[in-house]
Amino acid sequence: MARLIFLGPPGAGKGTQAKLLAELLQVPHISTGDILRSAITAKTPLGEKAKSYMDAGDLVPDSLILDMIRDRLNQSDAHKGWILDGFPRNVSQASFLDELLQELNQTCDYAINLEVPDEVLMSRLLERAQKEGRADDNEDTIRRRLEVYRSETAPVIGFYRDHSVLTVINGDQPVQSVTEYLKQLVCS
Ligand code: ADP
Repeated sequence: MARLIFLGPPGAGKGTQAKLLAELLQVPHISTGDILRSAITAKTPLGEKAKSYMDAGDLVPDSLILDMIRDRLNQSDAHKGWILDGFPRNVSQASFLDELLQELNQTCDYAINLEVPDEVLMSRLLERAQKEGRADDNEDTIRRRLEVYRSETAPVIGFYRDHSVLTVINGDQPVQSVTEYLKQLVCS
């Protein structure tokens, strides 16, 4: 059983590590960004509402995100554990999650913060922009996402520090080194 939250700025490697660890632990990788991008591709009402916020690099309103997470954590594959990637992204989402987990009789084992300097993030995201062509990976939007991270998401780190589940990892090292560290953490 494993329940993990990945924190950290855009480009820190949350998605990469969350995916690898989810396979290893055989639990679902729940990426709110992926769910929203699929909704946009499928042109669902959620996708239509979320698109302009995502394109601008802003957070999608909680009114859209919270129901989405509640539904996802209530699906049967999430009963045996989960890895959250991209949620919670502000303190009110973190409080919501806290209450939801109490309802579900679950606790989070680790909140992992991947730390990476801003200039490394910028170059990683610009590189990803060239490879994957994501609509929100251009220089202005990246800058905006980093700003939103500092103002809205970074305070979530303090929230988990207070709940004593926070682990800080240097994300400015090779993917494999971060994975090794994480494996030792969750498998020990
Ligand atoms: P990154 O962390 O690299 O920016 P994500 O795929 O996690 O990429 O998120 C992309 C965008 O999706 C965000 O900029 C935001 O607009 C939206 N988003 C994802 N998760 C959330 C969330 N929990 N709350 C609000 N908006 C979100």
